[in-house]
Amino acid sequence: MKVGNIEAKPGEHSFGYLEVAKSRSGLGPDIPVHVFAGTEPGPTLLVQGAIHGGEIIGSVAILDLIGKLDPKTFRGTVIAVPVVNRVGFELGERGIRIGSTDISRLFPGSATGSVPEQIANTYFEEVIKKADVMIDFHAGARTAYERYVLFGAEKDPDNPTEIELKRRKIVLAFGLDQAGYFPPGTFGAGTAKEAIEDAGVCQITLEFGGGTGWYKNGRDNVSDAERGMWNIMKAMRMIDGEFESDGPLCTVYNAGIVIWKGDVDGLFIRHRRFGDEMKEGDVYASLVDAYTGEEIDSMVAPEDGIVIPSGQEWPTIGATSVGILGNIDRVEDRRTTDMYVDFD
Ligand SMILES: [Zn+2]
Repeated sequence: MKVGNIEAKPGEHSFGYLEVAKSRSGLGPDIPVHVFAGTEPGPTLLVQGAIHGGEIIGSVAILDLIGKLDPKTFRGTVIAVPVVNRVGFELGERGIRIGSTDISRLFPGSATGSVPEQIANTYFEEVIKKADVMIDFHAGARTAYERYVLFGAEKDPDNPTEIELKRRKIVLAFGLDQAGYFPPGTFGAGTAKEAIEDAGVCQITLEFGGGTGWYKNGRDNVSDAERGMWNIMKAMRMIDGEFESDGPLCTVYNAGIVIWKGDVDGLFIRHRRFGDEMKEGDVYASLVDAYTGEEIDSMVAPEDGIVIPSGQEWPTIGATSVGILGNIDRVEDRRTTDMYVDFD
C-alpha cells in the first residue's frame, strides 16, 4: 500500500509526512500518515483526527490505536492520521489560517487552488480515495461536549443505496447509543461529503467529546473512540472478535432543528441538557450581559424536539448555532442487526 511518499509492505507499519501543499513562501503543512499493511489482503480503513484543529479526542484515540496495532495480526490496511489540520492544531483552531478556511468542506479540492484547496486535493486523491471506510473524528473543541455518530442524510431512506446500507451498519457497529443526521436544507450539508461518497468511500463522522478538562472528564470518550475503531475493523472482517458497545440499542435522530444565536455577544447560559424534550417556544438558553446581569437575548426551541449532544458554551462569538434538537427517526437493535460489511 502506497500513500503518496509513504509505503508499507505486507506486515509493515510505515510513517511519514504526506506532502500536500506549499505556501508561496514555501511553508508545507504536510500531514502525518501511518500506514499499517496487514499480512493478508482485505479492505482499507482510514481513521483521521483533528481536521478541525481544536477537536482532538479522536487524535488521542488514534494514537492509542497506533500503539497497539500490529500489522501481522489483521487483514487489509489501516491508514491512521492523528492530525489532518496541523496549522489549526498548532493554534487550537477549527480552520487553517493560510487561506483561512475549513479543509473538511473543500473535498475534492483543487491542485492549482489555494493552500487549503491543495491540501484537500492531495489528501483526497492520496488518502481518502484509497479507503473503503473513513472514520472522521470531530468533537466540541473547547466549548461544547458531544457524543454521537453523525452521518449524511440518505437521498431516499426507503430505497437506500448500497453505500448507504453499508454506512448504516458502520454507524451501528461503532458502538455508541446515539446517532443522527442533518436532513437536506439544514446545516452540515455540503458537496464535500458527496465527493467522498461518490468516490465509493463509506464515511461517518464522530462528534465525540470536547470541552475544557477533556482528559479528566473525557477519558472514557477516548477509550470508547478507540473501541469504535476496533469495532469497525471487526465489521470489515479485518479482525475477529465480539462487538462492544454502549448497549444493544442505538437511537437514530433526524437532527433537523437548529437553534441559532443572533449576531450579539454576551455570557451564554444554557438551560437545557442532553436528552431534554422541548416544546416549541421553550427557552433553551439565555444571553446575559456579563457586567450588568441584564438579559440580552433568549433562544427558544423553534419546534418540538429532543436536545441531542451539540451546542456551544461561553464564549459564543457572532451568529452561530448553539444547539440542535432532533426527533427520533428509528431505534436500531444490535442484537438483531447484521453489522458486517464486505468490500470487493
Ligand atoms: Zn469538527
